[in-house]
Amino acid sequence: PQRRPQSSKQRFVQELSQCLCDFVAQLLPTPEELAVKEDVRKLLERLIRSIEPESRLLSFGSTANGFSLRNSDMDLCCIIDSEERLSASDLVTMVGDLLARETRFVIKPLPLARIPIVKLSLPPSPGLPFGIACDIGFENRLALENTRLLFCYAMIDPARVRTMVLFLKVWCKRRKINSPYKGSLSSYGYVLLVIYFLVHVKNPPVLPNLQQLPPLRPITQEETHLNGYNIWFFDDINLLRERWKSKNTETVAELLIDFFKYYSRDFAYNTGVVSIRSGFILKEIKLPFFSLTCEKDPFETNFNVARCVTRDGLYTIRGEFMRASRILATRPERAIVALAQLCE
Ligand code: ATP
Ligand code: MG
Repeated sequence: PQRRPQSSKQRFVQELSQCLCDFVAQLLPTPEELAVKEDVRKLLERLIRSIEPESRLLSFGSTANGFSLRNSDMDLCCIIDSEERLSASDLVTMVGDLLARETRFVIKPLPLARIPIVKLSLPPSPGLPFGIACDIGFENRLALENTRLLFCYAMIDPARVRTMVLFLKVWCKRRKINSPYKGSLSSYGYVLLVIYFLVHVKNPPVLPNLQQLPPLRPITQEETHLNGYNIWFFDDINLLRERWKSKNTETVAELLIDFFKYYSRDFAYNTGVVSIRSGFILKEIKLPFFSLTCEKDPFETNFNVARCVTRDGLYTIRGEFMRASRILATRPERAIVALAQLCE
């Protein structure tokens, strides 16, 4: 039988998917970078153990959630396995002093921040052209769990989920809408937008809702709760990869086009809350203007991940979603041109 000729749209979408994969592949961290970061983690852990022998220093954020780009910062969390421990702010001060004495890092302790952290950095050098930026926090166990949740989502369908997330991370950085300090959204916020879209908006869904799947065996309240929050989710990824076959067969380019369309046009910013656990939720209360957009944390459900987003920030972010949507709708002759325009 004769093959039907491809329409220009099909050709564009196919080419765009290939371009997205190639583009993202170039931006993954190199094995050398990962090795250097692991060495840094081990060194810092060893030093911190001279203050708190029962401590472990664990990676969270992009270094551990499967959505890491080249030269991303390191998020580290110090967990202390003994009953008696110093307060986070005392630890920040002591660890800050110690690291300033014992290492070449530039150290900035922030003992009085809402979440006390020690900031470390190494300026660029020939061996490390982008230097290193690292934050160490203490006892932030929820962050370790949300990192594990994102990692599981990344692993279910890496070809589509990781490609989409990594592209969006590059895109939002290049478009300068990735600074919570300046009124836009953190990387974590964008990742949650993608997962929400793939779990709750796409029909059939690309991803299952890991927080709502039934557990394989009965689990106790103790196992599921941390600091009063339900942190349970289905984390047997090998089993999921065997059993979860999404009926959604869209390519990564089709999903991306639809993602931009959804967040520029369809999402009800004034009335809705994005929650990857519960789907779309109506805002029950009138939020102050700086919370015009509201995103629920998967575990800390009374916590607005987008609380830093200002009215102007939201306006800009939505404008960027529209711009991206427009560029993709014009379908330039070459998909690579569309990508370059998107990230200009
Ligand atoms: P990047 O590669 O840009 O650093 P990232 O995946 O490390 O991206 P970040 O935004 O740096 O993402 O967040 C790292 C971790 O910090 C997240 O996994 C989350 O645990 C926590 N986090 C960041 N922003 C928020 C937020 N607004 N609310 C709650 N937790 C957050
Ligand atoms: Mg990070």
